[in-house]
Amino acid sequence: MGRMNLSAEIIRLSETAMKDIAQKFEEIDRISAENTEKVLSAFQKYRVSEGCLTGTTGYGYDDKGRDTLDLIYADVFGSESALVRIGFVNGTHAITSAIFSALKTGDILLSVTGAPYDTLRGVIGIEGNYHGSLRDYGIGYSQVDLKADGKPDYETIKLAAADQRVAAVFVQRSRGYSNRPALSVSEIGIICDAVHAINPRAAVIVDNCYGEFTETMEPTDVGADLIAGSLIKNPGGGIAPTGGYVAGKRDLVEAAAFRLTTPGIGGECGATLFNNRLLYQGLFLAPHTVAQAMKTAVFCARLLELMGYKTSPVWDETRSDIIQMVELGNPDLLKRFCKGIQAGAPVDAYVSPEPWDMPGYDCPVIMAAGTFISGASIELSADGPMREPFCAYLQGGLTFESGRLGIMMAADMLMAADK
Ligand SMILES: *Cc1c(COP(=O)(O)O)cnc(C)c1O
Repeated sequence: MGRMNLSAEIIRLSETAMKDIAQKFEEIDRISAENTEKVLSAFQKYRVSEGCLTGTTGYGYDDKGRDTLDLIYADVFGSESALVRIGFVNGTHAITSAIFSALKTGDILLSVTGAPYDTLRGVIGIEGNYHGSLRDYGIGYSQVDLKADGKPDYETIKLAAADQRVAAVFVQRSRGYSNRPALSVSEIGIICDAVHAINPRAAVIVDNCYGEFTETMEPTDVGADLIAGSLIKNPGGGIAPTGGYVAGKRDLVEAAAFRLTTPGIGGECGATLFNNRLLYQGLFLAPHTVAQAMKTAVFCARLLELMGYKTSPVWDETRSDIIQMVELGNPDLLKRFCKGIQAGAPVDAYVSPEPWDMPGYDCPVIMAAGTFISGASIELSADGPMREPFCAYLQGGLTFESGRLGIMMAADMLMAADK
């Protein structure tokens, strides 16, 4: 039926899902409105002008657009300072610079949300043995796992953070690709208070990937010393072509800049190569784009629940990231779901994703993404490790209309398996 040949059954179920989730959409719109006001007022406060939207070459001294955008990010995130750079190659790079900003030989990094995201394990030195890892520099690592219900273990965190060698406490806000809920900003605030009370020396550093603008507060509003994230996720608004940011306490942001470039130079060099407009326009759109991705996730949850699948979060749960998990239960359905997401994309819709052995994973992973910006997961995309219980992790959607169609394509692929 229609130009995309969606089945009548999926169209009918989608209409039911849309009715069910209407109230949730109002809540998402309210968050987006408040965050838009935050961003827009910062643009006005720092007098963004056409001169900010061009850029520099060479050393990149006195790049007005770059330096003003740093002030705007700091303002939006309620922090003293920020560093927004296309020179951060990805989120891992920005988070790594953030972690190194607070640690010296003999110190300990304490992760309080279990094992960090896969790509950070090599940075810490708990996987691989790379030159320049924390371990290579004589920096220790300890970890407090989340409780069985996926919530922070506040009592154990206090005990572990009391060790005065702990100079940085690491928090991952998003669920990432694991079966635990995202931490809310208020839960992160409780961790910050507990850590600062018992160990004033320790900086709380938050991996903020996928979390930006999903709530009206950010971790830096509730006591986090430093946050970091990727510009091809939420704060780039689907427009920033690459890059990352750190925001937080002035001295830590400066130290992170010294790790990005060189000690002494920090954020003062770094040509923007005419990308400033894209970073400004992306931040301007980000609260809205994140709302589109959240609506896509809520719709996905509800539609698949109506089809009998287990989801996390469930459609009406409070969210603090843009990730939606769907438990498909067998390899055929996981492949079908990803193929459907791919078939619903604006780019590369004709290709068919297949599972492959990705470095850092203990089983093949199937990934669906047809994006304008390579690897941008603020655009509709899905990944699934080919192991029990065969879960797909979905995120993004630049517009709800297109995100919804992508989910309907995937749902139709699942439905066809039953026949
Ligand atoms: C995306 C992400 C990162 C960083 O990943 P990159 O691919 O390097 O941008 C780190 N932590 C979490 C939770 C993420 O979602």
